[in-house]
Amino acid sequence: MRVKADLHIHSVISPCADLEMSPVNIVNRALANNLQLIAIADHNSTLHGPLTKELAKRHGIHCLYGAEITSKEEIHCLCIVETENQRVALQDFIENNILKISNKPDVFGYQVVVNEQEEIIQEVDYYLHAALNKSINEVSEFLQSIQGIFIPAHVDRLKYSLTSQLGFIPPDLKFDALEISKNSKVSDFCSHNRIESSKTFIRNSDAHYIHQVGEIYTEYEINDISLAGLRDAFDKKNGAFVYPFQ
Ligand SMILES: [Zn+2]
Ligand SMILES: [Zn+2]
Repeated sequence: MRVKADLHIHSVISPCADLEMSPVNIVNRALANNLQLIAIADHNSTLHGPLTKELAKRHGIHCLYGAEITSKEEIHCLCIVETENQRVALQDFIENNILKISNKPDVFGYQVVVNEQEEIIQEVDYYLHAALNKSINEVSEFLQSIQGIFIPAHVDRLKYSLTSQLGFIPPDLKFDALEISKNSKVSDFCSHNRIESSKTFIRNSDAHYIHQVGEIYTEYEINDISLAGLRDAFDKKNGAFVYPFQ
């Protein structure tokens, strides 16, 4: 089946995301934009995953857990998992390795967890955009160890990307796909960076504001809407694939 997915959505817990980015509003917007699969990928946090998944399920939308981890080199890494055990392992990995700097909400933004009624139930006191004390290779290895999906985020951007921080894609780095912004053509990016064009590229909204949810998405041909189905599409296995875009 052909599935429309946005796997990089920030919620209100991300300091830079708009306060309207509650799980309720995100799911309603995903529904309005006909997304069948979403992932919440907050900066170094998975805490809004469970509520978003529950709300999405009521509307027939599949929600995966995620986080956008900042590596030691200040590279953003889109990390996606499926089960509650994997989410807890990912959350523990972040909490055990992030540089804990106090958040200053009036400077960096609020980092709050809300419930279905949009009441604040938790506030994270350390700054969530800080880097982990783990290299990008170590983050990739950790995701492999918990059978999660690892995708270097917005690889073409001038900030917090593989190309901005390292200037190249390390040949030994294992990843499931590369995320590219809508501002770059895959063919141009591959030729400028000497990357095989056979690598799998995806696009996501990286939404920080509600109108951005699903504004940019990727379509997948998958047999089953799950992490395994996505992995098949990335690996072009079992008839699954990512629909090409320019
Ligand atoms: Zn990012
Ligand atoms: Zn992001």
